[in-house]
Amino acid sequence: MQYYCPACCAKMPFADRDKPCTVCETVAAEWAQTHSYTERLLHALTHPNSEVRMAAIISLGSRRARATTGRVALSTLTALRLATEKRLASLA
Ligand SMILES: [Zn+2]
Repeated sequence: MQYYCPACCAKMPFADRDKPCTVCETVAAEWAQTHSYTERLLHALTHPNSEVRMAAIISLGSRRARATTGRVALSTLTALRLATEKRLASLA
């Protein structure tokens, strides 16, 4: 199972999830305690895994987090642009 640092999204071995991130030294449990659920969902919009970003978009939408509308729209457009570029590159 792949694990990511919650702060910088660096890949980490799942067994090391309780240790400080080797990139930013964030401890996942401490980071989770200092950020609200909505803040964590907003941060997930920048995650490298598109499934994580989509789950965050759906969760934010279901929570009707009005302050997040712009960020969700930007993340959705970014995901669409990246997918389009990837598809075009595969056709070249
Ligand atoms: Zn990190």
